[in-house]
Amino acid sequence: MELIDRDMAAAYNKHATFQPDTGALEKKLWSSYRMGMDGREPSNALKAGDYIHEVHAAVARSSVHRARFLEAMTALLPAEDECVSFGKRLVSIDEVEDGVIVHFADGTSVAADAVIGCDGIKSRVRQILFDGEEAANAVFTGKYAYRGLIPMDEAVEALGEYTARNNHFHWGYGGHLLTFPIEHGKTMNVVAFRTKQNGVWEHGSQWVLPGNKEQMLQDFEEWGPDVKAILSLMRNADIWAMFDHPPARTYHRGGHICMMGDAAHASTPHQGAGAGMAVEDVFVLSRLLGEIRERSQLEKAFAAYDAVRRPRTQKLVRTSRDAGQLYQCQKEGVKDDVEKIRANLDERMRWIWDLDMAQHLQEALSVFRGV
Ligand SMILES: Cc1cc2nc3c(=O)[nH]c(=O)nc-3n(C[C@H](O)[C@H](O)[C@H](O)COP(=O)(O)OP(=O)(O)OC[C@H]3O[C@@H](n4cnc5c(N)ncnc54)[C@H](O)[C@@H]3O)c2cc1C
Repeated sequence: MELIDRDMAAAYNKHATFQPDTGALEKKLWSSYRMGMDGREPSNALKAGDYIHEVHAAVARSSVHRARFLEAMTALLPAEDECVSFGKRLVSIDEVEDGVIVHFADGTSVAADAVIGCDGIKSRVRQILFDGEEAANAVFTGKYAYRGLIPMDEAVEALGEYTARNNHFHWGYGGHLLTFPIEHGKTMNVVAFRTKQNGVWEHGSQWVLPGNKEQMLQDFEEWGPDVKAILSLMRNADIWAMFDHPPARTYHRGGHICMMGDAAHASTPHQGAGAGMAVEDVFVLSRLLGEIRERSQLEKAFAAYDAVRRPRTQKLVRTSRDAGQLYQCQKEGVKDDVEKIRANLDERMRWIWDLDMAQHLQEALSVFRGV
């Protein structure tokens, strides 16, 4: 973020919540992992609550309230009438000789050199780019999650300071829980994942269903006391279906249409890196666009962006799904073997965290310049 805009990074830091454990910042703690239910012997003799592992990153983990951060970033934009319009819904794109004409749901249209779709997992731009192809729309990944909040003082009383206030994965068979502090530590955020037995999402395009606490408690009735305490304290328990995108063969069409962020590579949230990848996309694409001197170079810029960003971000989609399997003792070759789990956790996020962004940008610029 620093590389894109200092004020954007400052806005993040102002609104972000860091793990308050005194050691977490120094240790650069990403997360602790513990059993959420009893292991199944002989392969796993751990009991519910037992510690599995702790993973450290180059920086300590933090999170930010989406709306707060968006508001702060919006405040950095030029005045609305200068170059920004809000509340628009893209419905179609006409490609014309010298650019595109973009049509919106409110009946208005604008002419532009190109359209860059960052319109999320249900992207209309992606549907237009992949019209008639399987890759056009997201698919159900077989997992869903109950999401809810707990006031931190209640969480601390039930779980103790360390477990309540820091990032934890509670590991299990066919499910896992993720808990972490938000709102500067005032609230504990809970995401309780389960694998859907039949692998089918029966609710069409409705990916979020109203809370059903009874069903949630039933879903986790074999789990340990910490997990049950967390679930019983959750204020609401909305159900979120986990979708992701099939592989994309390209992120652009010529110099007219391009896509980034979730529109290009929506993944499951299991590695907590979807938004991070979108930020990286912005960095690379904005720098490439800064190199352009005439409209005809747009295609080269989009192609360079595609060449460096697509392999990395498609890998995120694949490995995030794989992480969901890992956390639920379903990953082939690992299952519930604690030593293999630890080894996997030690390595699996390094390629996400340890990228040299300056070098990555240089690769894109080299492709753009044809060197
Ligand atoms: C449960 C869950 C947990 C997650 N946890 C993490 C995490 O810990 N860390 C992380 O990095 N990522 C996480 N993610 C992923 C993260 O939310 C996304 O990767 C990120 O929001 C993508 O940003 P985006 O701007 O590409 O898309 P979005 O945030 O989806 O924004 C798309 C925007 O486009 C607008 N839009 C949609 N259609 C149109 C249209 N036709 N015309 C105009 N505008 C349109 C939408 O209104 C929206 O404002 C999580 C996701 C989920 C579901």
